[in-house]
Amino acid sequence: MKKGIITFASLLMISASAFAQMTCVVAHRGYWDTDGSAQNSIRALVKADSIGCYGSEFDVWLTADKKLVVNHDADINGVHIETSKAKDVLAQKLRNGENVPTLEQYLDQSLSLKPRLILELKAHQDKKHEEEAVLAILKLVKARNLEANIEYITFSKEAFQNFIKYAPKGTPVFYLSGDLSPREIKEMGGAGIDYHYKVLKKNPWWIDECHALNLRVNAWTVNKEKDMQWCIKHGVDIITTNAPELLQQLLLEK
Ligand code: MG
Repeated sequence: MKKGIITFASLLMISASAFAQMTCVVAHRGYWDTDGSAQNSIRALVKADSIGCYGSEFDVWLTADKKLVVNHDADINGVHIETSKAKDVLAQKLRNGENVPTLEQYLDQSLSLKPRLILELKAHQDKKHEEEAVLAILKLVKARNLEANIEYITFSKEAFQNFIKYAPKGTPVFYLSGDLSPREIKEMGGAGIDYHYKVLKKNPWWIDECHALNLRVNAWTVNKEKDMQWCIKHGVDIITTNAPELLQQLLLEK
């Protein structure tokens, strides 16, 4: 009997260890903090692949003339993306010398790479424009047969709902803003929460609540070792970081 209990305890330890090993690493804006790379550059996506990340995150905007482009801020070098023409946005240079990529270029590059695409649609001022962005993204992704390799994230509640409404059933869609409970996310049809790690530290029971609801938990943007360790210890499924190699090292040491 005692032997049976020990065996069961051992199995629990093994499964807990396996769970920790399975923490997924997402490179925030690609793996940019390395030679020759830049945030949201094509190179950053390639670099994320080169170190074996689970996913590579990037940010998407729709220009005034309906072209999807990859960039974090609403402006680049004084050009306001949402209200500017694509030719003016795409002429802008990133820190590594690349031009601002189109989403098409980004998706095309990903076809030869392994990381899952973690596409963040930025919250647009014009919500009609934002809905057009959702539909245009889904069209490009479908045309490249990438639907099984992409996850959507957004701070916009409207875009969150529109991705759930328009994407193929089962497409993972995560909400970033941190103001909805796991139950609310579940009721809206989301795949999980993708919240700032400080939100999770304030509401650590949300992690177990998500798992009980079959939702996944992603934490952003976790760059310090102690915060990574907290997330790993508390069962966060996916960690988005600017330091993917540090996180991979910590997971290997577990
Ligand atoms: Mg982002």
